Amino acid sequence: MICKRHFMLTAKYCQFILFNGQKCYFSRMNNAQKEFKDKFPSGLVDEPLSRYCTFLVGGPADMLYRAQNTTDIPELISFAKAQEIPYLIIGGGSNLLFDDKGFRGLVIKIECRRINIDGDEITADSGVTVAELLNFSIRNGLSGLEKWIGLPGTVGGAVRGNAGCNGLETKEVIVKATILSSETGETREVDNEYFEYDYRTSLLKETGEIVLNATFKLANTSISKEEQLKVMQEIKQFRQQAQPYGSSSGSFFKNPSLEQPAGMLIDQAGLKGKTVNKTQISEKHGNFLLNLGGATSEDIKELANLAKQEVKAKFDIELEEEVQILDEYGKTKL
Ligand SMILES: Cc1cc2nc3c(=O)[nH]c(=O)nc-3n(C[C@H](O)[C@H](O)[C@H](O)COP(=O)(O)OP(=O)(O)OC[C@H]3O[C@@H](n4cnc5c(N)ncnc54)[C@H](O)[C@@H]3O)c2cc1C
Repeated sequence: MICKRHFMLTAKYCQFILFNGQKCYFSRMNNAQKEFKDKFPSGLVDEPLSRYCTFLVGGPADMLYRAQNTTDIPELISFAKAQEIPYLIIGGGSNLLFDDKGFRGLVIKIECRRINIDGDEITADSGVTVAELLNFSIRNGLSGLEKWIGLPGTVGGAVRGNAGCNGLETKEVIVKATILSSETGETREVDNEYFEYDYRTSLLKETGEIVLNATFKLANTSISKEEQLKVMQEIKQFRQQAQPYGSSSGSFFKNPSLEQPAGMLIDQAGLKGKTVNKTQISEKHGNFLLNLGGATSEDIKELANLAKQEVKAKFDIELEEEVQILDEYGKTKL
C-alpha cells in the first residue's frame, strides 16, 4: 500500500512524458532535477528541445527554465555550478542544432522582453526578438533596421553572432550592451568595440559572456511609414524567392568569401536536392538544410558532412559551420 507521504512525493518528483504524442513513459527525476523543481517551481524537466529550435530536432533537456527576467539568469547559473552540471543559454534557437540525446544539464531560454526608447536609441532585453525590435522602431518613427525584416532570432543571439542581412550587420547599429560574466557573476556595460566584431562572430564566442540587454542607435526617419513598409515588402519578397520555406536554421555554413558563397559551392558540387532520410539540401538554396518532417539531428549532421566532403573534394575549400552543433553536454561538434 502506498502511504500518503509517498504518494505526494511521487506526484511531485515523477511525471508522465509525452513525445510527439507517440511515446509515453514514466520519468523519475534525478537529484539535480528535484532540487531544480524545489528552487525554480516553474522550471521544466525532461523537456524536448525540438520545441526550442527552428530545426525542430533534439531530445530532452534534463532541465529547462524560461527566464522572463534578467535577474533570474545569475541565480540559474549559480544553481548549475553548484550542481556541477553544464548550462546552455538559448534565445530563438534559430542558429542551433541540438543532439538527438538532448542535453544533460540546464537550458536557460532567455525570454526577457523589456524594450525602451530614448531619443533615437532603443534598449532591448536580450529576449526581445529582432522582429519585435524592428516593429518597435517603426512604431516610434525611427528607421535603420528595415533590412532586418525576416531575420529570425533574438537580440541576444544577434549581438553574440553579429547577425545581419541585406548589408546590415549588428555591429553597425549596436552602441552598447549589458553583459554578464558567467565566470564571476559580474554584470557590466560594454561598448561596440568590446565585441571585436567580424563576419558572424564576436568576442563573446570566446568569453561565454551573456547578453542581458543591448542599445541600438537608429535615425529619425525622413521617409514616410509607407515608404518604409514598401522597402520591407520588397526585401520580404526577395527572401521568399531566394530561400526555401520549411524547418531549417537558415544558412548552415559560413560563406568562404563573397565571390564563393557556400550555397553556390554546394550547388556546383551537385548536391541541391540531396537527401539523407528526412533531411534535404534545399532545391532552392544550397546552403539551406531542411528538416522535411521527422528528421533527426544525426541525419542533418550526416548531410552537412557530405556537403563538406564534396565541396572539399571539388574545390579544396573547407566549409565552416555557421550553425552551432551541440552534443548532449553542450560541447560544439559536428
Ligand atoms: C530561416 C532562417 C533564416 C536566417 N537568416 C539569417 C540571416 O539572414 N542572417 C543571419 O545572420 N542569420 C540568419 N539566420 C540565423 C539566425 O537567425 C541568427 O544566427 C540569429 O541571430 C540567432 O539568434 P537566436 O536568438 O535564435 O540564437 P540561438 O539560436 O538561440 O543561439 C545561438 C547562439 O547564441 C547564443 N545566445 C543566445 N542568446 C544569447 C544571449 N542572450 N547571450 C549570449 N549568448 C546568447 C546561444 O548560446 C548560441 O550559442 C537565419 C535563421 C533561419 C532559421
